[in-house]
Amino acid sequence: MKVVVCVKEVPEASARTRIDPGTKRLDRGGAAALNPFDAHAIEEALRLVAAAGDGEVVALMMAPEGAADSLRKALAMGADRAVHVADDALAGSDLVATARVLAKAVEREEADVVVLGQQGSDSDGAVLWSALADLLRLPVVSQAASLELADGKVTVKRQTEYGYDVIESPLPCVVAVSDAINEPRYPSLKGIMGAKKKPYESLAASDLGLAAEEVGEAGSRTVVRSLSEPPARGDAVRIEDGDGDAAEQVLAFLVERKLL
Ligand SMILES: Cc1cc2nc3c(=O)[nH]c(=O)nc-3n(C[C@H](O)[C@H](O)[C@H](O)COP(=O)(O)OP(=O)(O)OC[C@H]3O[C@@H](n4cnc5c(N)ncnc54)[C@H](O)[C@@H]3O)c2cc1C
Repeated sequence: MKVVVCVKEVPEASARTRIDPGTKRLDRGGAAALNPFDAHAIEEALRLVAAAGDGEVVALMMAPEGAADSLRKALAMGADRAVHVADDALAGSDLVATARVLAKAVEREEADVVVLGQQGSDSDGAVLWSALADLLRLPVVSQAASLELADGKVTVKRQTEYGYDVIESPLPCVVAVSDAINEPRYPSLKGIMGAKKKPYESLAASDLGLAAEEVGEAGSRTVVRSLSEPPARGDAVRIEDGDGDAAEQVLAFLVERKLL
């Protein structure tokens, strides 16, 4: 059983993010961390291989060269090896170009299951997995709240607004997991030390047979025409609860504006 888990490095939750006015891209120069949604994907990939009794988990990331901590964390959690696609030519890749790169990297692994998080906490697209599955021509199940493997297929409980769909898929397939699926383990000290010795492969776009015009801005279908600050908020009224009468103040505010 081979499972590829796609992980993304995102700005730290506490970091103040800004758009670079020159490139019109998110400035990713600050503190970064593993996308929290992807910790659940790593955990599930590890559980799948453990349940199968044999196999390997390969953590895959497309990110600039310096952004290796997230892959190291995946290795420390228990992934067997890491593949890092890093190339200056990839800067400016939109969803289509990113999916194209990841699809090429997944193809060479010949994985049984490709596991992804439900969304990147910076872009919140929640769509990369479907683009990836489309390029790979594989079935895809999203919002997986549980994932079981038996008899050469996966059975997924898919979270919906109204309950759960139970979906079976043959292998190979792509599964995007919900953050409700599991409680990710913390890397142990042994895991952190061991991660340094695990195989870590760095690839350029050309190693995946991708030409410069297929990646980065050239290979992207999205063009950011302009950017502007959100409009300033109108007059705001701040209600303090100094005397414990905030509820009355809110009520008076709404009544005065004929909102109640
Ligand atoms: C015009 C434009 C320019 C951009 N330029 C850049 C840029 O220079 N640098 C940059 O980092 N981003 C750039 N982006 C953002 C980049 O395209 C998105 O981060 C990417 O398409 C994934 O989208 P998402 O985070 O919304 O993924 P989602 O669909 O929300 O992610 C779902 C899951 O996909 C997996 N995943 C997502 N991204 C990766 C990845 N890179 N590697 C491995 N797994 C992944 C994770 O498992 C994640 O949980 C740009 C976007 C646009 C529109």
